[in-house]
Amino acid sequence: MELFKPMNANAGKGTAGADKPTERVRVLILGSGPAGYTAAIYAARANLSPVLYEGIQPGGQLTTTTEIENFPGYPQGITGNAMMADLKQQAQRFGTDVRFGIATATDLSVQPYRVTIDDEKVVEADALIIATGATAKYLGLESEERFKGQGVSACATCDGFFYRGKDVAVVGGGDTAAEEATYLAGLCNKVYLIVRKPFLRASKAMQERVMSTPNLEVLFEHVTKEIVGDSMGVNGVILTNARTGEEVRKDITGFFVAIGHQPNSDIFKPWIDTDEVGYIKTVPGTSKTNVAGVFACGDVQDPHYRQAITAAGSGCMAAIDTERYFLESKH
Ligand code: NDP
Repeated sequence: MELFKPMNANAGKGTAGADKPTERVRVLILGSGPAGYTAAIYAARANLSPVLYEGIQPGGQLTTTTEIENFPGYPQGITGNAMMADLKQQAQRFGTDVRFGIATATDLSVQPYRVTIDDEKVVEADALIIATGATAKYLGLESEERFKGQGVSACATCDGFFYRGKDVAVVGGGDTAAEEATYLAGLCNKVYLIVRKPFLRASKAMQERVMSTPNLEVLFEHVTKEIVGDSMGVNGVILTNARTGEEVRKDITGFFVAIGHQPNSDIFKPWIDTDEVGYIKTVPGTSKTNVAGVFACGDVQDPHYRQAITAAGSGCMAAIDTERYFLESKH
């Protein structure tokens, strides 16, 4: 699910919401995952009076996982929803104005920066923190949708632990799939890596790791036809051999989709530099974008780690960078 809609067709440079009611704020934060809320906690405690819009998926991607067991400080684990409710409460406790609403267009060519919310109003901000996250891509099968959270996952690091000793499959041939498959091989009895091409796209080093992992079997030139299961969850996957057309069933209880993520950066692209995939580029070691006073944190700028804890850390950086920006620019 996309956190933020693509740019409004009417929103061109310098025109975002020109005819709409306008409100002025000091710091605007877009996104309500760990990055957005951590930025809010720090910004609020620094008296920057942040306003945070939650986006389409309040709480972000963590609300789609079950138990989070790798976030430091929760020895018994915590559900994604509970953690995000806590983060929201903590941000509000220090005065963050948390609101429902989706950013639909931006104009970052002039200060204050203009962000259109729900196509209805414009919020003008002295500084903007982009924490709009990324969305995992799925195959688009009906059965995949049916078993989401019941055997189908897009995050091995989040959910792999629940499949200890079981047989699972990972689909994808890039670095993410290779990493997730080798990670799962350390937990599971058997891992099938389903690759639609006759080769892996992953880096050479990752390919070597995949090929040298004994309980990891790569099924080249195989396409997922259907994920099968019952009321208990997934119990198999039907694959088609792309070369011969032959169908094969593998008995698995976990199906991990690792075919890439799409950063939610479309509405910023006219102004903010991104890489070829769409991840926002930040100055290394900071949250600074190419536009002064606009900062990015969390998965929208992170193609590598994509963890709740790293997102939270980068949210903290964005708030501190914002504070320094105000000091240095005497805003
Ligand atoms: P990629 O876009 O690199 O790879 C996606 C993979 O999924 C490809 O093998 C692609 O197949 C396959 N795929 C896409 N759609 C489908 C589909 N519908 N059915 C089956 N297979 C499909 O995404 P990644 O997330 O792997 O990597 C993104 C970027 O992040 C890369 O630049 C990668 O190097 C980087 N990365 C780096 C890491 C690291 O350095 N530690 C870790 C993880 C990612 P096909 O090849 O046929 O197109």
